[in-house]
Amino acid sequence: MIHNNFSSFSLSDDIQKALCVLDYKIPTEVQERVIPQALEKDLIVKAKTGSGKTAAYAIPICEMIDWLENKPQALILTPTRELAVQVKEDFTNIGRFKRIKAAAIYGGHPFAIEKTELKQKTHVAVGTPGRVMDHIRKGTLPLSMISCLVIDEADRMLDMGFIDQVEEIIKELPEDRVTMLFSATMPQEIKDISLNEHKAPVQIDINEEGNAAADIDHSLFLTTEEDKFELLTDITIMENPDSCIIFCSTKDRVDLVWERLKQMDYHPQKLHGGMEQTDRISAIKRFKRGQYRYLVATDVAARGIDVDDISLVINYDIPLEAETYVHRTGRTGRAGRKGNAVSLATSSQSRFVRQIEEFIGFPIPERTGYEKAEVSQARLNFDKKLKAAPEIKQLKSDQLNKGIMKLRFNGGKKRN
Ligand code: ADP
Ligand code: MG
Repeated sequence: MIHNNFSSFSLSDDIQKALCVLDYKIPTEVQERVIPQALEKDLIVKAKTGSGKTAAYAIPICEMIDWLENKPQALILTPTRELAVQVKEDFTNIGRFKRIKAAAIYGGHPFAIEKTELKQKTHVAVGTPGRVMDHIRKGTLPLSMISCLVIDEADRMLDMGFIDQVEEIIKELPEDRVTMLFSATMPQEIKDISLNEHKAPVQIDINEEGNAAADIDHSLFLTTEEDKFELLTDITIMENPDSCIIFCSTKDRVDLVWERLKQMDYHPQKLHGGMEQTDRISAIKRFKRGQYRYLVATDVAARGIDVDDISLVINYDIPLEAETYVHRTGRTGRAGRKGNAVSLATSSQSRFVRQIEEFIGFPIPERTGYEKAEVSQARLNFDKKLKAAPEIKQLKSDQLNKGIMKLRFNGGKKRN
């Protein structure tokens, strides 16, 4: 079932190219499940925030759009104007090379401008229920060619009291269409929405816990306190991560590991509760921007950071609580990327390892140390990356900032 990339969906070159530009390399779980059956059946999809739902529907819709048709072929309903604008942008990005035209229509936006836009070529209309209904009533949103309806963030629609309007809109649409409903939670009122009287929808439920673990490569080294630090540097050399958090059990140990890495020119950042608040904030910011690739941290201090793109989590000290293990390792393997979590444990700590394995429900594969020869071989690349030109770092940081901004804008998710 695992696809290495999007090519197994047999997408057109235009869409594949756009996904390349967006740097979407691996489909997320929800994309994996939705894309193959989208537009064939009605779908009710439950998946948590940040799981990549937009592309799960935008990719098949962009693929399906007939460019020559001027009237809207898909209608996306969103609870907020911010989301409408974001989803419109996502369609524009994914449909870039196919020159897909998407229009956002929402309350507070000049109606006349939207009317003009809708009169011109519009493949996809994205809007809030109230404004969409407005356009329908005034005859400024032609519905005859709509073959796909998406109800995004249905649970928020419900909370905001929009469900009746959504049902009204559904009644106006051509019967010969498919509907996809997305929601992070699935209360009964949402299950009760009648998408289509004639068809039973397929339910897709993305179970968070089980899959989060599956997106991460877990591994364990048994070692001794004396060998630990050298093993740590070997791991970093072999893995050569773009971004890495090294977790230690106490602030003294953070200081120690940080100091030694600093001497080896890793340019590490550190984060623990003993630091001044302002230093902590600036450490987080710099790490987020990609100015630093290594962050040595305690759990307490790391709780506030929410960075999407951690390629490697190292448990320099194995956590004593199984939940902490899940929390730490959950920072890697997000948004469809394969994560990597490496833990170090001494033989007296095997009890904690067992507790963790029981909690996550599978054994953590054990690895032996590396051959000296392979480490010195890998060292060349590693050193090259350590000395990487600052402009490369800057570029990466700009991309990262863009990503963070985008997320902030989307659905009011709070960062920092
Ligand atoms: P949701 O709607 O489930 O909350 P979004 O669709 O807003 O999630 O996606 C969350 C973030 O993940 C966005 O920044 C999006 O660009 C990114 N993303 C989505 N799919 C992928 C993918 N396959 N690979 C990398 N990033 C992705
Ligand atoms: Mg969404």
